[in-house]
Amino acid sequence: MKDLRTALEQRRRDGLYRSRRLAESPQRPERRIDGRDCLSFCSNDYLGLAAHPQVVAALQTGAQRWGAGSGAAHLLAGHTAAHHALEEELADFVGAPRALLFSTGYMANLGVMAALPRRAGRLFQDRLNHASLLDGARISGARLVRYAHLDMQDLQRRLAMAPAGERLIASDGVFSMDGDCAPVEALAALATEHAAGLLLDDAHGLGVLGPQGRGTLAQAGLTPDADIMLMGTLGKALGTFGAFVAGSEALIETLIQQARSYVYTTAPPAAVAEATRAALQLCRDENWRREHLQSLVARFRAGAAELDLVLMESSTPIQPLLIGETRAATRMSEALEAAGILVPAIRPPTVPEGEARLRISFSAAHTQADVDRLLEALGSVMRR
Ligand code: PMP
Repeated sequence: MKDLRTALEQRRRDGLYRSRRLAESPQRPERRIDGRDCLSFCSNDYLGLAAHPQVVAALQTGAQRWGAGSGAAHLLAGHTAAHHALEEELADFVGAPRALLFSTGYMANLGVMAALPRRAGRLFQDRLNHASLLDGARISGARLVRYAHLDMQDLQRRLAMAPAGERLIASDGVFSMDGDCAPVEALAALATEHAAGLLLDDAHGLGVLGPQGRGTLAQAGLTPDADIMLMGTLGKALGTFGAFVAGSEALIETLIQQARSYVYTTAPPAAVAEATRAALQLCRDENWRREHLQSLVARFRAGAAELDLVLMESSTPIQPLLIGETRAATRMSEALEAAGILVPAIRPPTVPEGEARLRISFSAAHTQADVDRLLEALGSVMRR
């Protein structure tokens, strides 16, 4: 155990130490964090629903009706009419035959991976996929083949080289640290051509992209089917907590039988399901949230170009500013914080060595004036 301390000290020397902040107010752009008021650009609450009065009210009413906890796994009487209604509404939203709730997106990805690819199979993953997809690959026992980020030629080549057997392609829909989007149509075409399944992790696209916020799959004109599975999270644009997998009847029944992260865990509170139903309704009805978000992104990108800031290719609310060196990114994040602006530095191993960045993320709860304040602070920190 002495080694733990040594490793921690080394991590600190390398500028890679992670620490938590203490928030003393709800998830909104203006927040009180670590004892001071600041303007935050570091949440995934893209539609500004996490503290929305209707969502909070649904949570309260839900708790009165269902209590605080679900008390058991879904398969052991933890599955309520609230969970069931939410599953049906989510399936309808993304145009899938069925949807299955999971406690978190991390667990949903582990669940699909553990239930689907056979040990003799091959799992093809974008090199920049989320950690939960990569961890899922280990659990599945299938051979992991990583292809270059967004590179469909590389994927095609690797699929063609693979021996016959079960194949699953998995990709983020929107990449969480880069903000760019997977070429969904090309992925689906390659999956068909090579008789592979496709799992799209739309944690950051759901609610934000496509008609009514139905996500990257819908934006490409596709819906989940026998070969295409969609994983969506509820703790980001929908502002609550949890996740779901949408797909065919047979997929959902298989997950219920075999996804260990579904079978052996407590169902999320039914009150959270009620809150998510309210959030989903707002997401479907209030297009202005997505339009406003797009206008914030456009204003930010135009302002950043004037300041000669190096933004990554992204049209989503995730707008990373590439810095490069880890310590430089940390110093910039600290300087912004001193000016009352919260933007996290993302460092290796979350991103590749030499590609440390500031991950700026926007929410429909931000105003144009918030964007201007951010640009002003970035300009002054860069000049220094
Ligand atoms: N997939 C992606 C692409 C993510 O960014 C995240 C969350 N960071 C997850 C899955 C996990 O979702 P959850 O936070 O609900 O566990």
